[in-house]
Amino acid sequence: MQICDEIEAAFRSRGQSMYHGEPVSQAEHALQAADQAVREGAADALVVAALLHDIGHLLDEPEDLGDRGIDGRHEDTGAEWLAAHFGPEIVDPIRMHVDAKRYLCTVDPAYHARLSPASKQSLILQGGPMTPDEADRFESHPSFEAALRLRHWDDAAKIPGLPVPGLDHYLPRVARLASACEEVSR
Ligand code: FE
Repeated sequence: MQICDEIEAAFRSRGQSMYHGEPVSQAEHALQAADQAVREGAADALVVAALLHDIGHLLDEPEDLGDRGIDGRHEDTGAEWLAAHFGPEIVDPIRMHVDAKRYLCTVDPAYHARLSPASKQSLILQGGPMTPDEADRFESHPSFEAALRLRHWDDAAKIPGLPVPGLDHYLPRVARLASACEEVSR
């Protein structure tokens, strides 16, 4: 399964870089997010979405974009890259995970207060909290609930040294979901 090889290559080449401003690497962050999804009984598609939600950071993005005050729109890069292999139940929550933060900051001031300093900083580059109209539109999206769940796992997946299963643990379900999607589109 070629997509699994490409995902492994992305984790291998960029996974050890630090997750911007946080005490974990990109790979640790992804694997902790996936592990939380499993612990909360998420369907396989959402587990894979959690695992791959920041794949856009592992593709061709320069590592110092945030330091230079630039938002690389990694959620769009990742979603577009994945859309060739996976269905909307995986791609949509990934595309929406930054907007989910913007949404939660609008509807829940306590959420903003709990964000890490780096996440508060990137929020500014990402457009800040949603307007009420944007929040209404966001709520009506079919993947709204999934995007919020993914967001909470994303926010919590920043624990240095937490032992969690590795990438190999998830590749069989990545392969299964990719081939199911390819079957449908054939
Ligand atoms: Fe993340």
